[in-house]
Amino acid sequence: MPRVRFAPSPTGYLHIGSARTYVFNWLYARKHKGTVILRIDDTDVDRNTEESLASIYDGLRWLELGWDEEYRQSERTELHRRMAQVLLEKGLAYRDFTPADPTKDSDAERSGPWLFNPEMRNLSPEESARRAAAGEPFVLRFRVPRNGHVLRFHDRVYGFQERATGEIEDFALVRSNGQPTYHMASCADDIDLRITHIIRGQDHLANTFKHLLIFEGLGVQPPEFAHLPLLIAPDGSKLSKRRHGAVVSVTTYRDAGFLPHAFVNFLCLLGWSPKDNREYMTLTELIEAFNLEGIKRANAVVNFTDKDPLDPKAVWLNSQHLRAMPIEELARRVRPLMERAGLPVPGDEAHFYRLLDVLRTRYQTLNDFVTRGIAYFSDDYPIEPAALEKLNAPGARELLHELADRLETDAEFSEQSVENILRGLAAERGVKAGLIINAARAALTGQTVGPSAFTVFVMLGKDRVLRRLRRV
Ligand code: GLU
Repeated sequence: MPRVRFAPSPTGYLHIGSARTYVFNWLYARKHKGTVILRIDDTDVDRNTEESLASIYDGLRWLELGWDEEYRQSERTELHRRMAQVLLEKGLAYRDFTPADPTKDSDAERSGPWLFNPEMRNLSPEESARRAAAGEPFVLRFRVPRNGHVLRFHDRVYGFQERATGEIEDFALVRSNGQPTYHMASCADDIDLRITHIIRGQDHLANTFKHLLIFEGLGVQPPEFAHLPLLIAPDGSKLSKRRHGAVVSVTTYRDAGFLPHAFVNFLCLLGWSPKDNREYMTLTELIEAFNLEGIKRANAVVNFTDKDPLDPKAVWLNSQHLRAMPIEELARRVRPLMERAGLPVPGDEAHFYRLLDVLRTRYQTLNDFVTRGIAYFSDDYPIEPAALEKLNAPGARELLHELADRLETDAEFSEQSVENILRGLAAERGVKAGLIINAARAALTGQTVGPSAFTVFVMLGKDRVLRRLRRV
């Protein structure tokens, strides 16, 4: 049974790319009856914030997928240090007492290619132990083989990978302040938590060689690796919080009224497609169809513009999910939005469902029900300028008053009976039925588009219709 982990660092809100990594891990585990582990990589105390942690949980919970086990790396540093100690004892790591340069505290920031410091690498174990015991600070480094050893692995997405160890620097395992580095903490946890598959962003592909060295050094068979293609903006730049702001935050979609599993459907299509190239898929269908082989290597584009932060494909998928979902569930999701917007929820449940069922064929998001849908729930709705024009058509107001009088005696009040009465009135007065239909729609909903006008009459019910026609 696979054991997978999603390992976000709490350094910002939940990014679309991280959410996709989580979803792919989750789908893989669910498909193979495995375990999903949420591991908060919170060892970088300088960059972690509680706020970010909260927003990551917010985003993850909103997706409504859940997880099975949960760990915080900061609570496991003893384990990380213990495993680092094993590497030291085996002679696979060494202490580097070179005084830290405060301006260059990570290997990546060193100028020029730095591989190792021969003096430190060759310190005798006795001297190394003596200096450590004397309290001299040191960085613990992996002693990367310098003998032409080649590391190889098969990535489930990017295929065969190899790299000569001679090109890899003696990377840090434990910082001079005693904090294990990402490489050390991550591998120690992956080993301890018996992770079988590491599914993560392509930006970690190169790190994998270092991780192989650690796994090998600790005598553990490495897990399988699957790296996911980068997400890019329409202009081809890498999607990032810093450059693209809220567009890349999962909560942007939540707040726009997306359905969690429609959004999951959208995330899946960023770099993956099923064999039959279907796009709209329920969660069950996604679990069924998901496979690592369907992940593409090419970068995946998230579309947005300055005016519209939402990817049109996501919007389309959401509208498909809105139309297909059980009506009771739609009602359950729309109700709190209505309450928040101060709109009364119809007491008659069957009537409420019918309204939702008609409206959802025209709406894209949950928010549409409480913005575009106001007139279906409340008498207090705005009249759009285009609708006002229809009401101002010559004779329109008087015709609507007359229509109200005639409808008052219509006991049936069905789409057919309303249509007959309206067309009868138009014929009698020698005006086009369209004039009355458009004016009526404008009066009844404040809008010029929406469900069929006769459906609108019946959906609103006789009392509301008469009131609204008479008050124009
Ligand atoms: N915390 C790392 C990140 O957010 C996790 C990388 C990994 O999955 O190993 O990129």
